[in-house]
Amino acid sequence: MAKSSSTILNFIGGEWQESGAAESLEVNNPATAKTVGYVPLSTSSEVDLAVQKAAQAFEDWKQVPPTERIQYLFRLKDLLEEHFEDLACTITIENGKTLNEARGEMRRAIENVEVACGIPTMMQGGILEDIAPGIDEYMLRQPLGVCAIISPFNFPGMIPFWFMPYALACGNTVIVKPSERTPLTMQKVFHLLEEAGYEEGVVNLVNGGPDTVNAILDHPEVRAVSFVGSTPVARHIYSRAAKNGKRVQAQGGAKNPILILPDADVEMTTKIVTDSVFGNAGQRCLAASLVVTVGEEAKGSIIPALVESAHNRTVGYGLEEGIEMGPVITPQSKERITGLIQRGVDEGANLLLDGREASVDGYQEGNFLRPTILENLALDGEVVRTEIFGPVMGLVHVKDIDEAIDFVNSGTYGNMACLFTSSGAAARKFRNQAEAGNIGINIGVAAPMAFFPFSGWKESFFGTLHGQSNHAVEFYTQTKVVVERWPKEWSRVF
Ligand code: NAD
Repeated sequence: MAKSSSTILNFIGGEWQESGAAESLEVNNPATAKTVGYVPLSTSSEVDLAVQKAAQAFEDWKQVPPTERIQYLFRLKDLLEEHFEDLACTITIENGKTLNEARGEMRRAIENVEVACGIPTMMQGGILEDIAPGIDEYMLRQPLGVCAIISPFNFPGMIPFWFMPYALACGNTVIVKPSERTPLTMQKVFHLLEEAGYEEGVVNLVNGGPDTVNAILDHPEVRAVSFVGSTPVARHIYSRAAKNGKRVQAQGGAKNPILILPDADVEMTTKIVTDSVFGNAGQRCLAASLVVTVGEEAKGSIIPALVESAHNRTVGYGLEEGIEMGPVITPQSKERITGLIQRGVDEGANLLLDGREASVDGYQEGNFLRPTILENLALDGEVVRTEIFGPVMGLVHVKDIDEAIDFVNSGTYGNMACLFTSSGAAARKFRNQAEAGNIGINIGVAAPMAFFPFSGWKESFFGTLHGQSNHAVEFYTQTKVVVERWPKEWSRVF
């Protein structure tokens, strides 16, 4: 029995279990500051139990034909559609993003379920007959075993789906460890996984924080770890899990530049760029946090339009109609962001729009900020290189596209880079030379659809194979090559 209905439970070996952890954390609605749940910091013995259950379940699950394994995903897709609004509301309640943003997130989650239904095709190997007389050689893909998925707070519904449907459809069993700041959505998703009929131990949910994660990284029976979060933690996950002999994919933080050339369409660019910077209150790994105007002409026309568009954004509780931007996740996060805004000013930037004193009627306790714009960020300063993860646009001016591309490539991250232009030649040059894994041309959030890998370069990614699509299938399978001889003299004709 749960201590209270708001105690977050683990789902281990097909059973909902209250954690025996001595410590738990409050989960607060970032807009109302009301407590909406208590998340346990599960212990290493709970992680061990989940891994054991998942390892036992793997023995049967890997034998289930892929065509049957995807039937569970078809059922899950229907359940996710049926509970779509409830899941989206839950995301808004625990994360703060607007309901429309939450709906977009769940749509992206479902798309991954749809793509993973193609496993009978995607998981195929290959064969070459007659590599020598009477000898054939072929390659199979087989599942790995127990796979762990560790996710961040900013997309509590979508990010586990970059991995889970593929891992399961390939015949692995999984353990999901959601962010301790946003554990409610996965709690609901796991009720749907249970309803979809997965056998006990195939899908497991273990809540917790860093110690829970480290227990996963150190467990000898966990074969692969998929992680999304900040760069320092991604680096830690990558090295610790790899040291323990595991396969790892670790997606990290970002500082994404958007270049605006003088020939960009001002109206379209303004709308798309402000949506990219301030969508999800800037708490998106694909938020364009650095806007780079190229040439005096671009600067003169676009800046007043960006300031006006940012200023007009309606900030409030994401469950209410007409709200365009919600709060940031915690009071600590708000404090960190306001500190970085001040740091930018101290480094010499002009504060074109100051959103630090935001207040929303009826939600005085919420972690609200309004859009902020810092112009002329110091190129040798800290703020131009730091992931702020809040509703802050940094503006930088350069003289031409070569200088702009050099600026993009001087960054340590490489999650996304975008260009706004009407010149095909400029777009082609940028696409070819920009050092980032996700490129947008007249696009502000270049989020790959589920049938493409979510690429990320440099300090935004540690590993080889990314989440989603064929990369996920390769990550969650190991190849086996068979060389087979059938001498001619053995052949009999019946
Ligand atoms: P975070 O790194 O603080 O936490 C992510 C996960 O790691 C959580 O589950 C948390 O419990 C765990 N964790 C935190 N500290 C740990 C530690 N010391 N040891 C072991 N585990 C630890 O990230 P966050 O604040 O939840 O999410 C925001 C970050 O995620 C941003 O940097 C953002 O750019 C990044 N992000 C990246 C992508 C991408 O695709 N590259 C997507 C979404 C978010």
